[in-house]
Amino acid sequence: MSSSTFAYTFDTPVFKGETSFNTGLFINGKWVDPVKKGTYDVINPTNGKCITSIPVGTKEDVDIAVRAAQEAYATSWGLNVPGSQRGKLLNKLADLVEAHQGELAALEALDNGKAFGWAYNVDVAGAASCFRYYAGWADKNSGQVIETNEMKLAYTRHEPIGVVGQIIPWNFPLGMLAFKIGPALATGNTIVLKPSELTPLSALRMCHFFSEAGFPPGVINIVNGLGSTVGQAIAEHMDILKVAFTGSTAVGRIIMECAAKSNLKNVTLELGGKSPNVIFDDADVKQAVSWSIHGIFFNAGQACCAGSRIFVHEKIYDEFLTLFTDAAKNIKLGDPFAADTYQGAQVSIGQFNRVMGYIDSGRNDGATVHLGGEKHGTEGYYITPTIFTNTKPTMKIVKEEIFGPVGVIVKFSSEEEVIKEANDTQYGLAASVFTKDIDRAFRVANKFQAGTCWINCANLLDMQVPFGGFKQSGIGKELGEYALANYTNVKAVHVNLGMSI
Ligand code: NAD
Repeated sequence: MSSSTFAYTFDTPVFKGETSFNTGLFINGKWVDPVKKGTYDVINPTNGKCITSIPVGTKEDVDIAVRAAQEAYATSWGLNVPGSQRGKLLNKLADLVEAHQGELAALEALDNGKAFGWAYNVDVAGAASCFRYYAGWADKNSGQVIETNEMKLAYTRHEPIGVVGQIIPWNFPLGMLAFKIGPALATGNTIVLKPSELTPLSALRMCHFFSEAGFPPGVINIVNGLGSTVGQAIAEHMDILKVAFTGSTAVGRIIMECAAKSNLKNVTLELGGKSPNVIFDDADVKQAVSWSIHGIFFNAGQACCAGSRIFVHEKIYDEFLTLFTDAAKNIKLGDPFAADTYQGAQVSIGQFNRVMGYIDSGRNDGATVHLGGEKHGTEGYYITPTIFTNTKPTMKIVKEEIFGPVGVIVKFSSEEEVIKEANDTQYGLAASVFTKDIDRAFRVANKFQAGTCWINCANLLDMQVPFGGFKQSGIGKELGEYALANYTNVKAVHVNLGMSI
């Protein structure tokens, strides 16, 4: 039994309240210490100070968690439990998330540095609706009866895969956990999940709710730790039959290699992006500006589908740039717990330095820092909203995912040219187009090489709508009905109704 706990009193303008929970490894419904004693400091991105130290696991703990998940799958979950019962528990989990919306949002703001208001309305509310959405699917993921001939009946069964591994990033800690465990639980799988070492707190708090909602021990196991140890152990494990990963394209490649070299486990990958945002001269410019601001600066730019390459038609370029600059200057940057904050801190010193490195590279490559490009404040990892102009397609700031509040604004003159430039990337996660011409809107959306296209909006997800990248942005879809297939084995059964051989 682990005795590690975390207690904290929030006394902020937007949330006042206490939280207290265990921080050990959550395996087989119990809090346990890692086999090899090790801890990791969780850092507050607004001041660089340690919030708490949590126990972290290694390969040995992943082995124990996998055994617990196998046992739970064989005895108390999987095909032993009707879908309606799994749905009931997912709905209870959604109730608990809603009942603790403020506390969970406060934990996200503290741990990640994001604005409390966004955490409350997007991260936590989104997690609850994700659980509810998949609760609804739990008793509806059926196979088919397939007509062959009069002497044979064939049907398919949608069976759970078994023990699945899930590895998630830090930008939406609770949201990513919900996107992963919702469909996996609805379809009857058991889980070994590793949160990001940078943002483990909300996942640990959720473990209490897994028990309270009534999920049997071993159905959801959370093993905190580093990617190179716990993450790799999950990806390589011979008894984990599927791995779902969200994170960088570089690590996605490692996950796929581990899967190939171990048991050829099924892999889904949700990776990086460098999404284009194309604004034509007939667009509603004010709306295009507002959505483009949200597209690049939401979550301090730490969004995989951030619209980081903004292409603006030459006829409205000056007007757009003026309005966009004014709007970006008005972004409230600072304390995640202040009522009017839009943009909080970058998640870590590592990410802060990485983003500042990209800003330096843009400067050195000869692009113009039109706005921002600086550290904000005296402590914490804040970066002012940054816009580059006068860029070239070969520059690093145009080609690579920065994952911070840094966008490039590029002038274009023709539809053909802008589609070519928009698609000139290794990524294919998302793309936006702004125009009032309905023919052009559909035409451009059809030509974008991206898994999600937005017409006259940006950065919007819905639980009902699949999300996932083309090209090097990933493999497979999360959300919507499509995500069920990630966690389902389709079995075909042929029944002989009297044929002789
Ligand atoms: P990351 O790839 O560094 O880490 C993601 C997770 O993988 C973490 O839990 C980390 O500990 C783990 N990990 C690291 N090395 C590992 C290894 N060798 N084996 C197994 N696991 C390992 O990414 P990050 O910095 O946490 O997140 C930012 C990235 O995530 C960005 O590229 C962003 O675009 C991407 N992302 C994509 C989506 C999407 O849906 N497409 C959503 C959110 C974030």
